[in-house]
Amino acid sequence: MAKQVLECSFCGRKKPETNLLIAGINAHVCDRCIEQAHGIVLEELKSGGAALKSATDLILKKPKEIRTFLDQYVIGQEQTKKVMSVAVYNHYKRLMQLQHEEDVEIEKSNIIMVGQTGTGKTLVAKTIARMLEVPLAIVDATVLTEAGYVGEDVESILTRLLQAADYDLAKAERGIVFIDEIDKIARKSDNPSITRDVSGEGVQQALLKLLEGTVVNVPPKGGRKHPDQKFIEVNTKDILFIAGGAFDGIERIISKRLNRTAVGYTTSRNLDSIDKDNLLQYIIPKDIKDFGLIPEIIGRLPVLTHMDPLDRATLRAILTEPKNALIKQYQKLFAMDEVKFTIDDNALDYIVDKALEYKLGARGLRSLCEAILTDAMYELPSSDEKQLHIDVDYTRDALTKNLLKRLEIAS
Ligand code: ADP
Repeated sequence: MAKQVLECSFCGRKKPETNLLIAGINAHVCDRCIEQAHGIVLEELKSGGAALKSATDLILKKPKEIRTFLDQYVIGQEQTKKVMSVAVYNHYKRLMQLQHEEDVEIEKSNIIMVGQTGTGKTLVAKTIARMLEVPLAIVDATVLTEAGYVGEDVESILTRLLQAADYDLAKAERGIVFIDEIDKIARKSDNPSITRDVSGEGVQQALLKLLEGTVVNVPPKGGRKHPDQKFIEVNTKDILFIAGGAFDGIERIISKRLNRTAVGYTTSRNLDSIDKDNLLQYIIPKDIKDFGLIPEIIGRLPVLTHMDPLDRATLRAILTEPKNALIKQYQKLFAMDEVKFTIDDNALDYIVDKALEYKLGARGLRSLCEAILTDAMYELPSSDEKQLHIDVDYTRDALTKNLLKRLEIAS
């Protein structure tokens, strides 16, 4: 009896014509068919209305659920978390609505966050993007210039978003753009540099178009617009823009305004009830206008929220509480070498004291921890020690040796 030649059950190719033939229970499949099938799966996933799916999925997340998600990563910042949850919820409601073409058009809820550097503005934007599983582009407003000036064109923001979306246009068009340092492009009447003034206002005008919703020709690989380059048309109408900035000095504007109001309405207003350590909580859009952002931009960033300064309790909580808290990260790193890492509460308090003393903020917590743990991270992987317990004496010694001296010289 002639020996039966195996063949692919999908395309019928005989075994010798294939590179590989994989056997199943009652069938065989060749390498080519596997590749083709894989391609089909990818296409299906892509065109399976990923964007539509995300909008429908998202709408299911109520503001309180969004807030609960934020709580896992962001400590404090109660007002921002609440305002953000509502803004994001409404944003995706708006996207849902567009699909049904209702008559009342809901406007975009682009957001502006005002708060000192290191208080969690980027973290909030990142966490929202992580929750929504949408691409996020983080851009620095200071590098943006008007077309023709040295620096990056405003369109480069969208190049970044496309890159973050792996060039999936539908995804990018529903992504989030976080524009950091928006305050740095404010027009300042007392700014002596003419060029800076010009570019500041020009960039604001260019940004305005993106915020409003427009179709932009975006060079997919970035760089300057070039006649030979192919563009991708990106529509920004469903992109959520979150702007952030420290707005250094805006407290003065707020306090002046509060004083004026208090003088005008002496009976109804009591200046004593104002929390002078956190004036940002009283911010209104007019303060941002007085700072130098053009009113049109402010109008396109209708959701205004502030970040509270990080106090001792918040810094302490940041060390241990967030889902990916620093201490948890180090515990995981050590655990990979089967080392159990523990740290005393008063050692943690000491770290917070030093962060406050040297005004290092939340970002400084990381460098402090590195300085404390570097020796152990160097030694333990090559030793048999399976326990690392850090107390306050160890912390003090390590910090003095590795970091504080340098900080003292620097300050
Ligand atoms: P900003 O954008 O306001 O300058 P970031 O979001 O970049 O500040 O914060 C810097 C780092 O500090 C973050 O990566 C995070 O680890 C930590 N951090 C700052 N604020 C918070 C917060 N409220 N909750 C948790 N971590 C925070």
